[in-house]
Amino acid sequence: MTAESTTGSVYEFDSPMFREALAQFDRVGEMIGLDDNIHARLRVPQRAMVVAFPFRHDVYRDVETVFGYRVQHVLSMGPTKGGVRYAADVSLGEVAALAMLMTWKCAIVGLPFGGAKGGVRVDPTRLSSPEKQRVTRRYTSEIINFIGPNKDIPAPDMGTDEQTMAWMMDTYSQNVGHTVPAVVTGKPLALGGSTARREATGRGAISLLPTAALRLGMTVEGARVAIHGFGNVGQYAAVAATELGCRVIAVSDISGGVHREDGIDVEEAMAWVAEHRSLEGYEGGDRITNEELLELECEVLLPAAIAGVITGENAGRIKARLVIEGANGPTTLEADRILEERGIMVVPDVLANAGGVTVSYFEWVQDLQNYFWSENQIVGRLREIMNSAFSEVLDVADQEGVGLRTAALIKGIRRVARAKVARGVFP
Ligand code: GLU
Repeated sequence: MTAESTTGSVYEFDSPMFREALAQFDRVGEMIGLDDNIHARLRVPQRAMVVAFPFRHDVYRDVETVFGYRVQHVLSMGPTKGGVRYAADVSLGEVAALAMLMTWKCAIVGLPFGGAKGGVRVDPTRLSSPEKQRVTRRYTSEIINFIGPNKDIPAPDMGTDEQTMAWMMDTYSQNVGHTVPAVVTGKPLALGGSTARREATGRGAISLLPTAALRLGMTVEGARVAIHGFGNVGQYAAVAATELGCRVIAVSDISGGVHREDGIDVEEAMAWVAEHRSLEGYEGGDRITNEELLELECEVLLPAAIAGVITGENAGRIKARLVIEGANGPTTLEADRILEERGIMVVPDVLANAGGVTVSYFEWVQDLQNYFWSENQIVGRLREIMNSAFSEVLDVADQEGVGLRTAALIKGIRRVARAKVARGVFP
């Protein structure tokens, strides 16, 4: 069977994001001469579950039915791993694309997982906490046979957090009759969560900045950083960038952004968001739009929110010298080409935001062993894994004469292909 003969059947997952993920994979697969049979298999998720379920609003008589998904891309590498997102536009195709990205991400940093992703199509900002709890518990019980500490391990993603993971873990544990911390990661500390997990994605992304800057001949001290998205990833990236001596000149979220050339007071902005749920009304700088933030005069741009924000339309106006992708899929393929032509270095999502899943891996290992590590051990091992993956990706980029995204994907795809060849075809 060739890659082409599977093309007809990927329509189940068709969505702009899935098409992008596939185009990326096809291009790299062809470039490295990936075996046709393995190529065909990896173009689609191995397993996908679609559920529809009702939940009760706080007004008891109001019941709403929503869709939920869990997609497992590759089961050959170990259990599958990936977040669960709650958003108004979540679809099977989006979740499938993100599951594929998780496979490459785990392989690039060398974790013993295949990729997965889940989601519920619901706008979390209009849910009260009790409503969110009911959605989470029902979603978990719908997919309960699909997940488990040795099967598939969910984690937070957009619109979900530690509390969401606590409810998932409790629902799973109630169902099997004993506490199973290792079924999800990104849990609160009190339930077997790991120190430094919350900060891991943002910190991990910024830990690559010095090496990238060195390649570009750019000084880290005083470098201007603009951060698109001020959630879990953006906030801790801002903290880490400030610690490195950079100047965070702008941050934004769904309510718009703030710009201050002398540097945003990151702690104050975080405190504002903790109290008001968004940057709306925050006056620590001039108000700007999200579009303006992306095009600001700066050295480093860190998209840390949603997918598809750097496009063919605005890529020509990006002024940063370095883009570090904290979000999943923030740059379209077309934009990627434009940035490459313009000599802007892009540290791709599958590498840049792998810090989250790496500390998730540490959390899972700690839960399985009931033995917890110190914060220093976690932060040190995270830095080591991120930086050695980055230097390997830089080597591939130099050897093959390709950009960092292509180099990272080459590394990830080769690892998965090697495992699949070694396991063979069943039966
Ligand atoms: N949702 C995060 C990601 O996209 C983390 C996944 C995990 O920790 O399993 O990488």
